[in-house]
Amino acid sequence: VWKPAERVIAAAFDTPVVGWRGKRVNTLRLWSAQPIDPILLDAFNAGDHIGALRESNKAESLTRVLYPADATPAGQELRLRQEFFFSSASLQDILRRHLQQYDDFTSLPDKVAIQLNDTHPAVSIAELMRLLCDVHGLEFDQAWDITRGTIAYTNHTLLPEALESWPVPLFERLLPRHMQIIYAINAKVLLEARKTKNFSDTEIRSISLIEEGGSRRVRMGNLAFVGSHSINGVSALHTDLMKVTVFADLHKLYPDRINNKTNGITPRRWLQQCNPGLTGLIREAIGDDFLDDAEKLRALDKFATDSAFQEKFAAVKRNNKVALANLVASRMGVKIDPSAMFDIQIKRIHEYKRQLLNVIEAVALYDQIRSRPELDWVPRVKLFAGKAAPSYHNAKLIIKLINDVARTINNDPAVRGLLKVVFVPNYNVSLAEVMVPAADLSEQISTAGMEASGTGNMKFGLNGALTIGTLDGANVEMRDNVGEDNIKIFGLRADEVANLRTDGHNPRAIIEGSHELAQALSAISSGVFSPDDRNRYSELIEGIYSHDWFMVAADFDAYAQAQREVDELWNDKSAWSEKTIRNTARMGWFSSDRTIRQYAKEIWRAG
Ligand SMILES: *Cc1c(COP(=O)(O)O)cnc(C)c1O
Repeated sequence: VWKPAERVIAAAFDTPVVGWRGKRVNTLRLWSAQPIDPILLDAFNAGDHIGALRESNKAESLTRVLYPADATPAGQELRLRQEFFFSSASLQDILRRHLQQYDDFTSLPDKVAIQLNDTHPAVSIAELMRLLCDVHGLEFDQAWDITRGTIAYTNHTLLPEALESWPVPLFERLLPRHMQIIYAINAKVLLEARKTKNFSDTEIRSISLIEEGGSRRVRMGNLAFVGSHSINGVSALHTDLMKVTVFADLHKLYPDRINNKTNGITPRRWLQQCNPGLTGLIREAIGDDFLDDAEKLRALDKFATDSAFQEKFAAVKRNNKVALANLVASRMGVKIDPSAMFDIQIKRIHEYKRQLLNVIEAVALYDQIRSRPELDWVPRVKLFAGKAAPSYHNAKLIIKLINDVARTINNDPAVRGLLKVVFVPNYNVSLAEVMVPAADLSEQISTAGMEASGTGNMKFGLNGALTIGTLDGANVEMRDNVGEDNIKIFGLRADEVANLRTDGHNPRAIIEGSHELAQALSAISSGVFSPDDRNRYSELIEGIYSHDWFMVAADFDAYAQAQREVDELWNDKSAWSEKTIRNTARMGWFSSDRTIRQYAKEIWRAG
């Protein structure tokens, strides 16, 4: 039985969440950590004014910042304490309320569903076991059945560096009882695996909750998997890849547990609230049904070739582009022309999302516009926004590069305003609500196999943007829904990326074979865009030459060609309009109402 060294109060803060048409109100309960004894009066009166507040500060620091950086040992410790605090507070509250209505916990799996949103609350599996066994006196095996019956886990990424694991010594020091419980769970699972005789020693090692070799670590993804009755991915492709990559061996042991719930977006925020112009136009055309059921947007399909409707649709888009142009002018002092194509990539900055591919293509286009001024270039504004994690060096450098390229291109009279590049700072949901409705082209160009789902892709499609993208994440299902004529797919597929990575590919040869790409890379790495620091981007570009992990060189020609095909489409105004209307008409399936309904029915057994 655990005797904790630290005690804090979890104070509940409730926010009512009013459902559509006010039919239901749910409670969102968030927790704040408060000291039990705000000031140690004896210490204070004895003259130790700082020490008297030490306990109080330690408690409040638990919830001062969500997801504190875990680059240092102190950061790691705070982060694990925070994850435990939030998990334990919610579990104790759930169990307390369950006992107000029912005699015991045998009905917990029927009455309660706990959905782990990624591995961050995965310590809940050990904590629920501890509460059931140590506080409420259940036997280990019964507690295990109840825990697994109640908890389910959603995986959000396959990137190995994003799967949490904690050093065993840290875990043991902070949560010794939980460590014992995890060892007991591990013994049970590994025995079960060995009994089947289907697993090699290597496979048994990969199933283990403890990573051995070098320093020992607790694998939170494996803990979340074995403690859950359902493990879901967030797009069809991501779910398929889960089964053959991170969770291949656990899937072999528990083949019925992995399932798919493709992400969705709420049409209340991402159509009605952010785009009142389009919402009004749709109501005029097909009535109000789509407000209750987004799949009713299909009725718009029959207006896709109606030239009067096409004009109204384009007029709404133009108004939204004027609003964004005004925001860019007032916030950044940059003038952009609403009749140019607005080509937008907004998302967290990460190498796998390939903002670098996009900006390299901008540099190549810049070069072409200058060297072939006689051609009819389609006027474009390439807009970017997004934040990088504070310690992610290359991501920060990519933001700097976009800004450097923007300054050079926007001030070069030879471009004649045909190309502008804008990096809008401080990306957040409010900014997205202005940018999404104003997009003509949506950039969803991740290295295939690396984006679990994406939801930005869905927001843009719903608001009538054409997508240029790889067959990754939910882009695959978007193509299936909108039809392949209404989306511009390019580049390597997930299996091709995997094969190139195992067989080794030669980016240097690819670059030497592509004049445009070679020119653009050499301009960037030689300092054309950073005259104040000519080597600023040499290492970043050298990474493409030497290994090209994210397939920027490998996909460049296909991407550039797809962009020129988009230009051709843009010049056929009626064909463009038809495609954008069909995007709005056919995105209804990506409503989060559909997603939540599937969770309720297929995982929570509720509804
Ligand atoms: C939708 C959204 C995201 C997710 O965008 P992806 O393109 O799917 O990565 C990130 N940040 C904000 C502010 C969003 O609104």
